[in-house]
Amino acid sequence: MAGLETAAVVTVGTELTTGHRLDTNGAEVALALAHAGYIVSEMVSVPDDRDMIATALSDLIARRTLVVVTGGLGPTHDDVTREAAAHVVGRALLRDARIEEELVARISPHREPSSAVSLLHQADIIEGAVVLPATTGTAPGQIVDHDGHTLVLLPGPPHEMRPMLRVALAGRVASAPPVTLRCVGITESDAGHRVLPQLERYPGVDLTLLGGPGTVDVILVSTTGDPGPLEDARAAAEQALADTCFSTDGSTLAETVVRLATTRSAVVATAESCTGGLVASAITDVPGSSVMYTGSVVAYANDAKTALLGVDPGLLAAHGAVSAEVAAAMAEGALRLPGATVAVATTGVAGPTGGSIERPTGTVWFALAATGAATHTEVHRYGGDRGMVRQRARTTALDLLRRTLLES
Ligand code: AMP
Ligand code: MG
Repeated sequence: MAGLETAAVVTVGTELTTGHRLDTNGAEVALALAHAGYIVSEMVSVPDDRDMIATALSDLIARRTLVVVTGGLGPTHDDVTREAAAHVVGRALLRDARIEEELVARISPHREPSSAVSLLHQADIIEGAVVLPATTGTAPGQIVDHDGHTLVLLPGPPHEMRPMLRVALAGRVASAPPVTLRCVGITESDAGHRVLPQLERYPGVDLTLLGGPGTVDVILVSTTGDPGPLEDARAAAEQALADTCFSTDGSTLAETVVRLATTRSAVVATAESCTGGLVASAITDVPGSSVMYTGSVVAYANDAKTALLGVDPGLLAAHGAVSAEVAAAMAEGALRLPGATVAVATTGVAGPTGGSIERPTGTVWFALAATGAATHTEVHRYGGDRGMVRQRARTTALDLLRRTLLES
């Protein structure tokens, strides 16, 4: 890519502008464009109205290198994106005989004749456009060059849009795609304070911080299209974030844990109270986790902690279920699961009720037990509602596993 290129995203659909359907295409397309190194300067949604679509497109195509449009390519009367785009670039819509033939072959004999006719509109291609064949639906996409700018038309259904977007952007990847450093155990503002001073040396690099439940994505974007400063900024930021940074290739925390355990031949077990299986779910979401994961015990009631994990009822009576002692006994109980070499346990007050002065809502005790090592415990106090407390606790449990595996 020579220098900086800007792009715009247009999502078409009255269901979007009336709020009946959430615009997920807009975010997906913007993210893919950002990964390809474009600066996405504008995103708009317009209803299924030929004139409004044409107004938006003629305005954006004049100012942006690339305009990606989704929606309105279907067979129904309100699908008018093709007509609007042809009008904007001043070219004819021509029926493509081959696509028409394929559509005819796919038309069910049970269709009403009038709906079969409208289905064939999907074979109308803007003169000179490159066709993106429909692999998961019936409406093809189109790429149109116009005065050195490019208009990409994609269908609205996300599962049809997605593969065509990949094809449309293949070969358009910039020399300086953004870099994402994923971090855990650090707040958004602390991550900013660590990284911002490093970026003073790289005026062509911008910082975006994206917080999740217990995680922060530090995203570095080149504002010049020059890969050199971006790479230098990445190295400086990675050093400043130190061991809070768990991935630079987009992998999730659970993927990182699975990779670390697999390469170290460790076998993980989990004992979950307040997280109720969220840690197990995150690990087993990752393909290939069967190699490094033996299983989980979800022990919610005190009696279950005793029956399933062998937690001494005396410990529960003396310290309460939300305590270092019980967390440790839960982790040690999970370590007895077949093959386990590392075990993490969670026990806490997710709320909104059940908190006390000593253990306010959001208090979660964690324990990490590993073969041949002393059991480690730590406590966290999270803000937020029940869902947030549980998700943050899941993140901390995964991070405890990550840090233990890194040291092993
Ligand atoms: P269309 O081809 O524009 O009529 O879109 C067909 C269907 O795709 C719509 O009914 C929606 O369910 C879905 N769709 C269209 N645009 C979007 C969008 N921007 N985000 C998510 N879903 C969409
Ligand atoms: Mg529509």
